[in-house]
Amino acid sequence: MRLPEPLKERLIQGIITGFLGALGYALSMLAADVTLPLIDHVWPAVTRRTLLWLCLTLLLVLGGFAWWVWWLHQKEEMAGIPKGFTQDLKSGMAVEDATGKFFCSRCLIQKRKSQLYGGLTTSRERNVETHAWHCKVKECGGSYLQMIEIQRVRRK
Ligand SMILES: [Zn+2]
Repeated sequence: MRLPEPLKERLIQGIITGFLGALGYALSMLAADVTLPLIDHVWPAVTRRTLLWLCLTLLLVLGGFAWWVWWLHQKEEMAGIPKGFTQDLKSGMAVEDATGKFFCSRCLIQKRKSQLYGGLTTSRERNVETHAWHCKVKECGGSYLQMIEIQRVRRK
């Protein structure tokens, strides 16, 4: 008797899942058998000072982990922007290190070098001037808003 292909796949998946479940159950029972006597005998021997150090170490490890995740995220954000450019994290546009000119980050990621045009003041509220920069590439259509704090010069 030949089984249809989808049924055969499902059957194999079911058998593997059942086997892994049984293995997990056996391991968890074994772990419970081992850890309970360990906790009963070792726990009373742990002093408050050791517990404090354990907590501090755990806090340090968690802090390190959080920093690592943040660092990976930052690295990923910068990925794709080629060397010689820095991404302005506030506006999102790329700044050429050598000239200080603004370029489209989206285009740079796609290996296109498109200098932004515009920079016209769109609004001026409180102490912030908002400039709008646009990408020349039609299919990109990227635009960036740059906020610049206005420095007021008082004249006598
Ligand atoms: Zn672009």
